[in-house]
Amino acid sequence: MTDPAMELPFYYGSISRAEAEEQLKLAGMSDGLFLLRQCLRSLGGYVLSLVWNLQFNHYPVEKLLNGTYCVSGGKPHCGPAELCEYYSKDEDGLVCTLRKPCLRTADTPIRPGVFDTLRENILREYVRKTWNLEGEAMEQAIVSQAPQLEKLIATGAHENMNWFHGKIARQEGERRLYSGTQPDGKFLVRQKDDTGTFALSLVYGKTVYHYQIQRDKTGKYLMPEGTKFDTVWQLVEYLKMKPDGLVTILKDPCVNRNNAANATPAVPPGRLDRRSGNGYTPAPVTTDSSMRLETLKDRPAMPMDSSEFTSPYDDPEELKEKKLFLKREQLMIDEVELGSGNFGCVKKGVYKMRKKHVDVAIKVLKSENEKGVKDEMMREAEIMHQLDNPYIVRMIGICQAESLMLVMEMASGGPLHKFLSSKKDQVSVENVVELMHQVSLGMLYLEQNNFVHRDLAARNVLLVNQHYAKISDFGLSKALGADDNYYKARSAGKWPLKWYAPECVLFHKFSSKSDVWSFGVTMWEAFSYGGKPYKKMKGPEVMSFIQNGDRMDSPPGCPETMYTVMLDCWTFKHEDRPSFAKVEERMRTFYYSISKKSPSEVPEPVE
Ligand code: AMP
Repeated sequence: MTDPAMELPFYYGSISRAEAEEQLKLAGMSDGLFLLRQCLRSLGGYVLSLVWNLQFNHYPVEKLLNGTYCVSGGKPHCGPAELCEYYSKDEDGLVCTLRKPCLRTADTPIRPGVFDTLRENILREYVRKTWNLEGEAMEQAIVSQAPQLEKLIATGAHENMNWFHGKIARQEGERRLYSGTQPDGKFLVRQKDDTGTFALSLVYGKTVYHYQIQRDKTGKYLMPEGTKFDTVWQLVEYLKMKPDGLVTILKDPCVNRNNAANATPAVPPGRLDRRSGNGYTPAPVTTDSSMRLETLKDRPAMPMDSSEFTSPYDDPEELKEKKLFLKREQLMIDEVELGSGNFGCVKKGVYKMRKKHVDVAIKVLKSENEKGVKDEMMREAEIMHQLDNPYIVRMIGICQAESLMLVMEMASGGPLHKFLSSKKDQVSVENVVELMHQVSLGMLYLEQNNFVHRDLAARNVLLVNQHYAKISDFGLSKALGADDNYYKARSAGKWPLKWYAPECVLFHKFSSKSDVWSFGVTMWEAFSYGGKPYKKMKGPEVMSFIQNGDRMDSPPGCPETMYTVMLDCWTFKHEDRPSFAKVEERMRTFYYSISKKSPSEVPEPVE
């Protein structure tokens, strides 16, 4: 996952204090020379190494629970870059300001930490087993859930390390250490009991020494009187460099063959079985780590908690019965109307499948006589039939009975703009970023599969719940041919001009890049909590506004990074505009960097 310091040219990753000092010496030891490195003690933390008066000063930078970073006792900052910028202007307790970055040379790559290399695999296994997902759905889940899962996974990561032997007795630990050669520093970690305590067993002078790994009130791990760490594996990494009270530093791991091959999951399979009954049945949590218990209990709702995350046809038995045309007797239509349009209305209902009943939204065509409208609905159905993505409203099928009906997954939270304008006070900016990142994931899927939406707008983003958005309304959408990168409309229709890129209006050309433009307008709507874009202007006026080089202002309180994405989406020339691959990456990076912060701490609101 993205480390927010990764982009800093003076960030060295997981290097030791001695190595940092070596780099600073090589760079000349001038006053104010500094570099940043990964902190071994605290998860997500850093160390700032700074030269003053030919002396080295090392300041730990902690990542606090709310996601901000601070030098102990100092002011919080929203990221390592912002923190360094601040201390470059104000020494605020440091020996001097940060004056000259000690830059990495071309042959000094950022060194990944132990967890950095394992993280991806563990995350993958966790998502696969916990939610029983495979393939595309799993990849989507990994991308969208990484921030919430990262801490959870880091805390249990020791279970994947080759030196971890699980719950074995002291004598068994000794037996394993005495088998084979017994060099000084050979070690293993074992779990002592169910209370989450660990012991370290270590060879020195052909004798095995046992140490209890203690845990303080806040859950940190330490050797008696020693340095405190967020996780057991960080403590072990540290003890490889410093004895911290042990007879010797840790050297060779006594390899547990079961853990040696790869990073296997730290999670019992089937802990949450999403296919049982009406959804999840949390199985008893048997892990030793209270952090993991807490995170499972308290974590915010995630898209994959909803049954709408996977297709109702995910079950092979249901898939066998899948047909485009649904039987009327399997469809129950409620009187409740969810919405309406010129085609007719959308009603609530239930579709009876072989093994389950699913809540559905049914688009009911008003009159069979209007052939054009009927054709339009059939075209929409044809497009939707080809799509299957967690961030796109899925079609269940169509039903030809008292009227033509398009049966879709239910997104009961309604359209995004209405939701945001009515819940302004309850929805944080972070929440908006989360939802717009999901929209970018759905659009990325369309881009990768050569579909253009042509009507992306906040009114066409529906919510399953406050933390889960899906793109809907494929009435204008087109599937592009394999070799085409745009669709050319023969004539202009009733078009949502305020959402359209210049090339759509001027040349009737539609592509994923023109969808990117609409995504920018949708972002603007979202960050203005349901505001109307180009408020006082009429559609055609917007075109001259854009051609003059003008763009909408940033919505109040919108993070600057998000406004920059909007402006890039509104790049006049489509060839210079970013693709969804790029936009999604930027949304994700930003979302990860702010996730878990309280709304007031979201960085850089634009005035
Ligand atoms: P549309 O013409 O597709 O934009 O649908 C009109 C309105 O019906 C939307 O604004 C929603 O309020 C509602 N609606 C459409 N599709 C769904 C759905 N899948 N789930 C819930 N409500 C929907």
